[in-house]
Amino acid sequence: MSESPVGKEQLRTWDRRYVWHPFTQMAEYEPMIIERAAGCTLVDVDGREFLDGVSSLWCNVHGHRHPKLDAAIRRQLDKVAHVTSLGQSNPTTITLARRLVEIAPKGLEHVFFSDDGATSVEVALKMAFQYWHQCKQPKPEKTAYVALGDAYHGDTLGSVSVGGVERFHAMFRPLLFDVLRLATPNSYRPPAGVPVNGVLEHCLGELEELLRQRHEQIAALVMEPLVQGAAGMVMHPRGYLRGVRHLTRRYGVLLIADEVAVGMGRTGKMFACEHEQVVPDLLCLAKGLTGGYLPLAATLATDEIYGAFLGEYAEGRTFFHGHTYGGNPLGAAVALATLDVFLEEQTLSRLQPKIARLGEHLARLAELPEVGDARQCGLIGAVELVRDKATKEPFPWEKKRGIRVCEHVLGRGVWIRPLGNVLVIMPPLAVSLGELDRICEAVEAAILATLS
Ligand SMILES: *Cc1c(COP(=O)(O)O)cnc(C)c1O
Repeated sequence: MSESPVGKEQLRTWDRRYVWHPFTQMAEYEPMIIERAAGCTLVDVDGREFLDGVSSLWCNVHGHRHPKLDAAIRRQLDKVAHVTSLGQSNPTTITLARRLVEIAPKGLEHVFFSDDGATSVEVALKMAFQYWHQCKQPKPEKTAYVALGDAYHGDTLGSVSVGGVERFHAMFRPLLFDVLRLATPNSYRPPAGVPVNGVLEHCLGELEELLRQRHEQIAALVMEPLVQGAAGMVMHPRGYLRGVRHLTRRYGVLLIADEVAVGMGRTGKMFACEHEQVVPDLLCLAKGLTGGYLPLAATLATDEIYGAFLGEYAEGRTFFHGHTYGGNPLGAAVALATLDVFLEEQTLSRLQPKIARLGEHLARLAELPEVGDARQCGLIGAVELVRDKATKEPFPWEKKRGIRVCEHVLGRGVWIRPLGNVLVIMPPLAVSLGELDRICEAVEAAILATLS
């Protein structure tokens, strides 16, 4: 027998007392308890409705409670909920692997499943390391990684090592391995002394210099293609990704593309790498892979990398890495359904007018006082609030400028979560034009209502 439903005041008390929330100052935490959702609308325990302006933290694709996705999980439940991937398989996960290889940039032919974005990056980092020990002409001295300034690749220690968000990562520095860090290819805030239109040339020049001097020690470069999410939706100059691919190939360094946030249609194409015709050596997917339903992640590898791990058991070439729920059939089932819905609903072509509409809204938002930059990539919109538009002087983060705006936005029935002073507009790809208008209008009103 289940207990009688718990009252909402009780839930709020228990939430504060028992649940330790990620990236949340618990001493100040105000419970927001969502009981159900449909499409792009969340409903809390008081029955209040909120438009989901950030896709359940960047992972929802086709909306909440999509009938096709719900049904796929129920169908899989009637077969089996869990099959290990360690020396065993199941039809759903096999089919998903094949589908991913079919749609991925050509050359990525093998899929290693794990369960979260952070683990998909750990897998890629370890694969790259081991590859250099076992490839045809081994170069075991290649042990270093290159990563971008302000990078975010997840919260496990390997992913934090390649991460570069000072406020999240500085505390753990003594636990991390060293990384060769590049300047952030930030088009709004260029590296010191670099003009706005010189970012591409400067950053590729810096990389080339580093690779020229150190390529013999470097295993891989890891990056978020086009947009650095947690950095504050930092957008790279066009051509940067392609330039990185060109240089890493020339100097024999593997390229790991972390598409955990930008993959699965978010940028207007299925994968961000397609925008610059880039094929990485390793590609990481998570977040939207299951439509935002269940934890599942994938690291795709080229045949060249995969081949280096083949041999007799005794040769020790096996990739000794795995996660209990990696490739779980329930996650695979809803991931397959997510891909089906992309085709059935023509999600990507129907996204184009929404991308255009978001662009119109951002152009208007850019004119507001205290908006330093309003930038866009596909269905990612970011509005950076500044104290001084001319000098781009930021608000000190402890002023909670972004948080205050988002509180106002919430009062208007829209939920968004900021990154410091950057407001993020990133609804499910299934958002309607009307809903997108409401989200952007709430953001505009909230900025005006909270001007300092
Ligand atoms: C969210 C994110 C991760 C981590 O994914 P989790 O599933 O939260 O572990 C890794 N890389 C990027 C680019 C992300 O945005």
